[in-house]
Amino acid sequence: RQAGYAALRDLPARTKDGTDVKLYLNAGLDLDLDMLEQAGADGVGLFRTEFQFLVSETLPRLDDQVALYRRVLDRAAGKPVIFRTVDLGGDKVLPALNTAREENPALGWRSVRFALDHKGLFRRQLRALVRAAGTDPLTVMFPMVTTPGEFFEARELLMKEVAWTLSRTGKTPSRLEVGVMLETPALAFSLTELAGEVDFLSVGTNDLMQFFFAADRMTPSVSDRYDLVSPAALRFLKLVSQTCIDHSIRMSACGEATASPISALCFIALGFLNLSMPAASIGPVKRMVRSLDLAAFRKDFLAALDAPDTAFRNQVLALASDHGV
Ligand code: PEP
Ligand code: MG
Repeated sequence: RQAGYAALRDLPARTKDGTDVKLYLNAGLDLDLDMLEQAGADGVGLFRTEFQFLVSETLPRLDDQVALYRRVLDRAAGKPVIFRTVDLGGDKVLPALNTAREENPALGWRSVRFALDHKGLFRRQLRALVRAAGTDPLTVMFPMVTTPGEFFEARELLMKEVAWTLSRTGKTPSRLEVGVMLETPALAFSLTELAGEVDFLSVGTNDLMQFFFAADRMTPSVSDRYDLVSPAALRFLKLVSQTCIDHSIRMSACGEATASPISALCFIALGFLNLSMPAASIGPVKRMVRSLDLAAFRKDFLAALDAPDTAFRNQVLALASDHGV
């Protein structure tokens, strides 16, 4: 089976009926980048920059951040990389900074909220990203944006760092793309305000599902109470997809749900053709994609979503096997 995946490495993730799907890698340390070539990924769809903060006793200095981001860009050798800005707080606590005890850390002072309230730390990171890019393209994504205002504020800080770096070094990224992670249901109902402003949106299923089903991803006794392959979750994602299509917002998904071929299949059927996942999933998902008759599957899948069986997951699995998977 392993050898089978290696043979797929240089083949495209193209469905039987000719739709191309891009499969990207989730990474957080530069050594993860070894997997870019080995797994045959199209790029890095989620680089979790907070790992550098979490593995160090002290806050990483500007130069250390620049060096890491530059190494990542060099290793990617021109393939796209999405840098997700620091996602601290919640389940990723920095003892020195996250001092307040919270009743509900997942709902608390975390992610972009935390970054916007620690402007020195945040601006230093944005400066490091811009400096590391030099004159290469740069793609930045903000985590857990809940309101359009948070996106605008974060982007303004990024643009200040672009201007500052240009004035100091004479260099500016040849292309700058700025996106949001969709991790809270609220943002799905603010996409009209983000149309024409964001370059892309990436669904972070880990947080999104915990908020959507009100089931803590870190509590084992409830974390299996949510299922992406369920009518409620998929109807919600269908709404997100339709809104993105209507407003010409490029959409993708990251988060662990994309790691399972059956969930990845559902995303693809809903129009998400850019999926980022752990390295070990790229082979299995690519195999699924290459066996899929997408148009025929999508038709039956959307009908099933309108009239689901009680065993909806089995229904989807049966449709998958009817259509090549
Ligand atoms: C997510 O929430 O789906 C996600 C990708 O972010 P993280 O798992 O790092 O919170
Ligand atoms: Mg998240």
